[in-house]
Amino acid sequence: MSAPAVMDRVRAHLVALKMPQALSALDPQMRRLEAAECSALEFLETLLAEERAIRETRRVKMSLMTARLTAIKTLATFDFAFQPGLDRNRILALAQLEFIERREVVHLLGPPGTGKTHLALAIGVEAVRSGKSVFFSTLAELIAGLAKAEREGQLQTRIRFLTRNALLIIDEIGYLPLSPGGANLFFQLVNARYERGAMILTSNRGFSEWGEIFGDLVVASALLDRLLHHAIVLQIDGQSYRLRQHAQLVPEHLKARPLPRPPEEPGKKRGRPRKEPHAIPPG
Ligand code: ADP
Ligand code: MG
Repeated sequence: MSAPAVMDRVRAHLVALKMPQALSALDPQMRRLEAAECSALEFLETLLAEERAIRETRRVKMSLMTARLTAIKTLATFDFAFQPGLDRNRILALAQLEFIERREVVHLLGPPGTGKTHLALAIGVEAVRSGKSVFFSTLAELIAGLAKAEREGQLQTRIRFLTRNALLIIDEIGYLPLSPGGANLFFQLVNARYERGAMILTSNRGFSEWGEIFGDLVVASALLDRLLHHAIVLQIDGQSYRLRQHAQLVPEHLKARPLPRPPEEPGKKRGRPRKEPHAIPPG
């Protein structure tokens, strides 16, 4: 077979195999090969690498959408110097994602604007890049979804969906108080995920306020029991990044105050040996 005929067949193979990037790299790489600028092996490697790179970019983009990680924040854009009380190494360690393998619960606590959502999103993006399945939701959206599923007789399906991901990020615990029904639905989800998958929770409220947030002391205590077992607690006590230029305009009585110290461990109810959650002291 003549060389042009072979090239035509190679092109047809790449089209059939849905390898458009390799196809568009074919001619320029052929010219390099003919000019002896690369070996046959390097020629092949370049075509495959180009196709793989574009597929990886597409996979990450799709997974970020599925994870609902739409507001893309990264650790590279987080200014650690602005939060000197936050241990940068602890955040970088979290970004190594071993807590996901260990199915731990990470609590990011702190007043509004201190970067809790930013950090949760950034760790979520790292997890997606490394091929882990992630789902991001605010607590209010999560509970609205569970309540809707319950009304439609689909609660177990919804809970199964929310336990499938390696990492579930629940943002904004405590911004809005929940109805007792909502607290109960959340408990069912937490119970289903307990020791099965990792979570990141963000909150502007201390654990001592969970009774108030969830409108029920018994449910709050049962939630904390599960969510503080195998937990990492990171507290950010610094200033709001949003208000960094205008902090002086906020009236004194509305200024964010440090949260009460975590965690008060809830009553021991299940005779299991407990690991102390490691709290990060403010700097
Ligand atoms: P929180 O969830 O604690 O209320 P956010 O993470 O939403 O705060 O932060 C508010 C805004 O400020 C976001 O746009 C976030 O990207 C930005 N931000 C917060 N802290 C930092 C920081 N240390 N470096 C860079 N941007 C930050
Ligand atoms: Mg937030």
